[in-house]
Amino acid sequence: MSALPQPQSRSPFRSGPAALSRRSVLTTAGLVAAGVALDSALAAPSASAATTPAIFYSPHQDDEAIGLAGSILEHKAAGRPVYLVLVSRGENGDLAAIMNQGACRTLGDRCSAPGHTHDLGWQETWPTPEVVSGRTAEFKASAKALGVDKVINFDLSDEAFGDYDGFVKKVMAKVRALAQQYPGASHKFAAGWLDKTATHKACSDAAYWLMKNGELTDVRFNHIYAYQQFPNPADRGRGAAYVLDIPAAQMAKKRAAILAYNTWDPSRNLYTLGYHSVPTWLEQAYADPREFVYTLPSGYKPGPAA
Ligand SMILES: [Zn+2]
Ligand SMILES: [Zn+2]
Repeated sequence: MSALPQPQSRSPFRSGPAALSRRSVLTTAGLVAAGVALDSALAAPSASAATTPAIFYSPHQDDEAIGLAGSILEHKAAGRPVYLVLVSRGENGDLAAIMNQGACRTLGDRCSAPGHTHDLGWQETWPTPEVVSGRTAEFKASAKALGVDKVINFDLSDEAFGDYDGFVKKVMAKVRALAQQYPGASHKFAAGWLDKTATHKACSDAAYWLMKNGELTDVRFNHIYAYQQFPNPADRGRGAAYVLDIPAAQMAKKRAAILAYNTWDPSRNLYTLGYHSVPTWLEQAYADPREFVYTLPSGYKPGPAA
């Protein structure tokens, strides 16, 4: 049973899933790091840990499907309650312009809109309400496919490109409140120092400052944009504490979550926005049954991404 209809009967992405090796690709450095860092968050949780949630923070709609879904499903399979947080609203005028363009120049015949055409008349200026609403509908469909126990929307305007420090402080306040509400929870963020985009880096910075204060202890970071930085799959996971090999049954659910971002169903407010925004990364995440988990590097530098 799938809650997510596929938009077409053929393979949802033209390239289809690649036949990638499923062996673990822990690097030498990663093995060393794993040896010292492996704990209840990475191994099967203990009975006491099983009652505390694992909280995953997706900076934008689509990041959870691309780079957190396998880890979410790993924790679900281990019996942990999983909460999924959407950090920012994901305002995006460029995406509104794409959806207003008529004949689809972004995806061409991969576009699942009728006739590969969309002229939605959406607002292209901040705060792009239709984009936010549509992206969040995709996020909720993705969360449903992953079977998360709770969806939490921080509903923060994505101001990391403007008032960076202010955005970090807002994220910190929201994360702090969750840490206080759920003592003993583990917290999973984007590895923003690797993702090199302001919003993701701001989320890492919030974790860094809270860890420094002793307010968060059990923290991991997934490299969401591994597919962008490392087109060669063999390069992904460099320096990781842990490379997750996603079991087939869980990978099927991750793929269903990814397809929430490639579903055209206006009756459900679904307009394939994710696929128009980051087509290559969704395709590559769909094809690669792994995720890349890091601990905070010792020389971590807070501040906007370089
Ligand atoms: Zn993002
Ligand atoms: Zn299109």
